[in-house]
Amino acid sequence: MSDKSFLDWPFFDARHRELAATLEEWCAANLPVDHSDVDAACRGLVAALGAGGWLEHSGGSLDVRTLCLIRETLARHDGLADFAFAMQGLGMGAVSLFGTEEKRRWLEKTRKGEAISAFALTEPGSGSDVAATKTVAEKVQGGWRLSGEKTWISNGGIADVYVIFARTGEAPGARGLSAFLMPANVAGLSVVERLEGIARHPLARLRLDGVELPDGALIGKPGEGFKLAMSVLDVFRSTVGAAALGFARRALDEALARVQARRIQGQALAELQMVQGHLADMALKVDAAALLIYRAAWTKDQGAARVTREAAMAKLYATEAAQEVIDLAVQLHGGDGVRHGSKVEELYREIRALRIYEGASDVQRVVIARSILPKEAL
Ligand SMILES: Cc1cc2nc3c(=O)[nH]c(=O)nc-3n(C[C@H](O)[C@H](O)[C@H](O)COP(=O)(O)OP(=O)(O)OC[C@H]3O[C@@H](n4cnc5c(N)ncnc54)[C@H](O)[C@@H]3O)c2cc1C
Repeated sequence: MSDKSFLDWPFFDARHRELAATLEEWCAANLPVDHSDVDAACRGLVAALGAGGWLEHSGGSLDVRTLCLIRETLARHDGLADFAFAMQGLGMGAVSLFGTEEKRRWLEKTRKGEAISAFALTEPGSGSDVAATKTVAEKVQGGWRLSGEKTWISNGGIADVYVIFARTGEAPGARGLSAFLMPANVAGLSVVERLEGIARHPLARLRLDGVELPDGALIGKPGEGFKLAMSVLDVFRSTVGAAALGFARRALDEALARVQARRIQGQALAELQMVQGHLADMALKVDAAALLIYRAAWTKDQGAARVTREAAMAKLYATEAAQEVIDLAVQLHGGDGVRHGSKVEELYREIRALRIYEGASDVQRVVIARSILPKEAL
């Protein structure tokens, strides 16, 4: 049983504690699922999370503490369940925050698990460097025509709806981008490649070849795409940290069970002082990550306009610390730790991409440094 004492921290209300307990029961009854067909598994998870009412929290009024609690709990049970939940929120994040009534009809579907959503920003030539976005949206009579390529798109190939970022040219670089809501069945959109990561999730490279969208597809105003994407990431970045925290808690649980069961030189591994030292380091990193994550989430929920620094610290620390915790858990499992199919081996593969997407670790370091240096020093 994972440590739940953090739920008594002042960051949480009674409703958060109740939600965590109910979700724990739901997870015990429904997870993990079979991952052998990853597309089918994701579709099934979205439907199950929708039927369970959990996706109601993924859009509309976004309570970041709730999002983080759900992500850390799902990640602790099944990384793919966390992925399915997270993408319903991230995919529709721009619509939750800035969507008009008409666009929010999609939100009703994604919140019931009846439609799958995706967030399409990255391109082959622009990941961290969003200003280099090349996909173009050209104004035509009654709408927009989009052409370009997007890659590393989670849910690419199985999504029913995409929020896509394209250059509309109001200003150079990042200030000339806009966001559009794009149903997956539009003419001119194709999946050119399905990508296989070290943790298997639905991922794809997409091509837009003269995709025509109506004026109403624009989210916010022309040229606001970067601002909008950053506002969405401001909410969801802490939740990436929360998923990492869920993986780390599970790794610690697995390690604790292993060191008590495994006997070496006539005693339990847990009795060796050096092993206890490793366990202490792991527990310390888990608690420190949780403090940073729920500090960021609480601050946002109190109405802070932006939590850029807090969210960057939470994401950076929690993902890096989780990698270290999981690595130690693998080490304490010996050969069984690297055996394909063992839980810690799965966690070892699941954690890696979290240090890269939604702002790589070094990008978070840049964000934090910029937030503490005076403007004239930059
Ligand atoms: C599993 C997975 C799922 C993804 N899902 C999505 C999705 O749903 N939607 C989407 O739009 N994108 C998605 N991405 C893409 C992801 O956001 C990008 O991979 C990420 O932004 C990094 O971009 P890049 O891969 O082009 O790496 P690059 O931008 O080339 O960066 C490579 C490395 O360069 C260094 N670096 C970059 N910039 C700086 C800097 N300013 N200062 C110092 N060092 C720097 C860092 O070490 C960084 O890791 C996903 C990626 C993965 C791996």
